[in-house]
Amino acid sequence: MGQIVDIGRRIELVPMDSYFHDIAIALYQQQPAIGPSFLVHTYSRIEGASQRIQFVVDAMRTLGGMELTKSGLLRFPCGTDHQLGCKRVFLEACKSDPMQLVESRSDTIFDKKSNCDMTVLSYGNGRYHVTANSDESGTERRVSAITGGLIKLGDMIAVDEEKSDQVAFSCGCSHDALVGLLLVRAPNVRAAVREQQMTASRGVLSSPSQQE
Ligand SMILES: [Zn+2]
Repeated sequence: MGQIVDIGRRIELVPMDSYFHDIAIALYQQQPAIGPSFLVHTYSRIEGASQRIQFVVDAMRTLGGMELTKSGLLRFPCGTDHQLGCKRVFLEACKSDPMQLVESRSDTIFDKKSNCDMTVLSYGNGRYHVTANSDESGTERRVSAITGGLIKLGDMIAVDEEKSDQVAFSCGCSHDALVGLLLVRAPNVRAAVREQQMTASRGVLSSPSQQE
């Protein structure tokens, strides 16, 4: 188990990577002096596995607006762990088609339930405002459902009890790429959480010595 302790605490796992030989890919959290940082790791020794890990790391930088530390770990520029958000970035990066260019998500989604576009606007200092391009009745409730989704998925906070269309990151910094990524799943948080639980329960990552 020494190896596992050395690379940090495992916080998320994709037990069977559908894009690369069903290998297990895990996300580890470390606590170096510069603040919480993340490592994407596999125990697989299949040729090309390290390139696959590099793809996931690059995709996480794009999708989550994360940066690389000198030692090659991922972190958010604000220095906060945003662990829940980071897990989501990791899962989405693993699901990104390696044959396609990975691009950060838009700030707008089409919401089926309200039949309109929902946009998340940055107010700066980590504050965001969810707006709908419709004034039909019920839209306001959908906006607050999506805001609630952002809070649950990204561990964001409500700005003001009265303003159910506003959310913020507790670090006080903007994370536009991350909020765009979370917005895609915000209309259906339950499905997103269920998927995460199923992924986690499908297998456990074992070190090479345990696989023998
Ligand atoms: Zn932050």
